[in-house]
Amino acid sequence: MKVTDFSESRYAELEGIPLENVEIQDCLLSDKMEINRSKSIPHQLSECERTGRIKNFKIAAGLAEGEVSEHLAADSDVYKILEGISYDLANTDKNKLQREMEKILDLLEKCQEGNGYINTSYQTGGGYLTQSYTTAEDESDRWKDLEHGHELYCGGHLIQAAIAHHRATGKRKFLRIAQRWADLVTEKFGPTARHGTGGHPEIEMALVELYRETEKEDYLNTAKSLLNIRGGKSSGLDGSKYLQDHKPIREQKELTGHAVRQLYLLSGITDIFAETGDDELWEVLSSQWKDLTDKKMAVTGGAGSRYNGEAFGEPYEITNRTGYYETCAGIASFMWNWRMLQVTGEAKYADVMERTLYNTILSGMSRNGREYFYTNPLEHDGGKDLAEQHRGSKRRTTEHFDGTACCPPNLARLLASLPGYVYGKGEKSLYVHHYVNSELNHRIGEKEVTITQGTRYPWKGDIKLKIDPERNLEFSLMLRIPNWAKNTEVRINGDTLNLEPRPGKYLEIHRKWESGDEVNLEFPMHIRKIVANPKVSGNTGCIGLMRGPIVYCIEEVDYPDSELYTVTLPKDAELTTEFDEKVLEDVIIIKGEGKSVPYTQNLYKDLENLNSRRIKSIDFTAVPYFVWANREPGAMRVWIPVTESVLR
Ligand SMILES: [Zn+2]
Repeated sequence: MKVTDFSESRYAELEGIPLENVEIQDCLLSDKMEINRSKSIPHQLSECERTGRIKNFKIAAGLAEGEVSEHLAADSDVYKILEGISYDLANTDKNKLQREMEKILDLLEKCQEGNGYINTSYQTGGGYLTQSYTTAEDESDRWKDLEHGHELYCGGHLIQAAIAHHRATGKRKFLRIAQRWADLVTEKFGPTARHGTGGHPEIEMALVELYRETEKEDYLNTAKSLLNIRGGKSSGLDGSKYLQDHKPIREQKELTGHAVRQLYLLSGITDIFAETGDDELWEVLSSQWKDLTDKKMAVTGGAGSRYNGEAFGEPYEITNRTGYYETCAGIASFMWNWRMLQVTGEAKYADVMERTLYNTILSGMSRNGREYFYTNPLEHDGGKDLAEQHRGSKRRTTEHFDGTACCPPNLARLLASLPGYVYGKGEKSLYVHHYVNSELNHRIGEKEVTITQGTRYPWKGDIKLKIDPERNLEFSLMLRIPNWAKNTEVRINGDTLNLEPRPGKYLEIHRKWESGDEVNLEFPMHIRKIVANPKVSGNTGCIGLMRGPIVYCIEEVDYPDSELYTVTLPKDAELTTEFDEKVLEDVIIIKGEGKSVPYTQNLYKDLENLNSRRIKSIDFTAVPYFVWANREPGAMRVWIPVTESVLR
């Protein structure tokens, strides 16, 4: 099964490779996937039980009575978990989770109404709607709150889960439920109905994928309608930037408003572009992507810096302590960049995927797989108030399921689907988008080829690709050279390659491959000191640390004798790396000598009174950002003041 199926998309250069053909083994990502499979997904399902999300379906089906669970878009959390279980089925045997899933599908079948409608909040007259709707059981209240009702949003997740289930099992039961729903949406929102559009995009990409799965063009046309009506009088929305409704879609050239909404919308636009080749939509996509990467993305790949509205801010408003960077926004950016990669075949999109995955996305889940971050700020003071503001970013918590729980199941489905994002297929070419210890079984034309990727990436930069075609096979191997990887070495069967690998591009190696051929890549894995554009004013005088795709941070727990805010790093500090197997699993940490620049309790003082004699050398330790808050609560920062900039 594929995560997305671009095989028939006329305006896409690439397509994905079925998950079951890729086995990720014995590495950071396989560890995360195993934790997701064995701990997170079962735990999330039980959280859905505990918090009434499953019971909502029983109530809607008339099989139970009682209080309806009041959580925003509660159905979508269940759908995302079902999607995650389905991806896992591609790589694991039938198991207990599959039986759980089948039980939920029976429920869905029972609570779906004759016309295809399904949404437990509206069907039960409860849920979070109780404040604005007192008679939600009355059908006339449906489809009215397009801004915040999340009916189309939940339906989008229903469709995506059903497609994953169909691709994984071949069974049509779930897909039939989704199609009945999509037919109803087409009737209400398709080209002839034009009832409006949804306040939280999601359904657009789901409908395009359903079109790919069923070849029913109505779904593509409905997705187009939902898009094109945006920003006009009949959108059914409030005309706000928050909902990306402030102007017609083709005039929206900058990222704005709620980050997850914006990035899901862009994913849907990319899907529509892949089918239609609509040039105006490409203008929107390319200019918004530039806006993200030139002006609005955190060094961790985090998107949506603004707490207020979980939104994109102004250009260069990339904040640290108040930075928001919802886990879902990271996932949405990953999904959007994947789609841009399929359409263009350009490595820069895979670079953003990598940055976002290894930093802001992996940060969203704890080591034990049961606690989650909703937001991923770049700095934290360890204190209570800010933690509350960040909904649990002081420590990861499971409390999300007592409220809006969008991020945990989004992580569950993404981690389960990772094998589908590693490789790609072009015309007579095979793309290696991501470096991960894995085995790929693939077919080019009539011939099988196995590619074994041996590596300890992202910790080590050497990658050994063993190519084993069933018979000699001519094709282009396209290797992504990450944009940070200058002076990459490439060897084939021991010989240095007479081609220049360019960072941020794919390196094409075209030849007739023979069994046993071996390609060796050597990416430079030195520690990089990063500075931010001066317009990101909060980072003036600070450096960030990166090694390969990993962003580092300093954490209070590593500085028992100095307050974290006094820790600085001299500009020319020599830094070394070591594997830390005891404290933080098998990750590489950074060591060196830092300087603590103590300060008194005064809020302000004259510079001349800053006593440089009290500066002391300290052991400097930085850990990968994604592992922060796994030991004990405390302060953390990604951007570290340069000693000289503090002292002047
Ligand atoms: Zn979320």
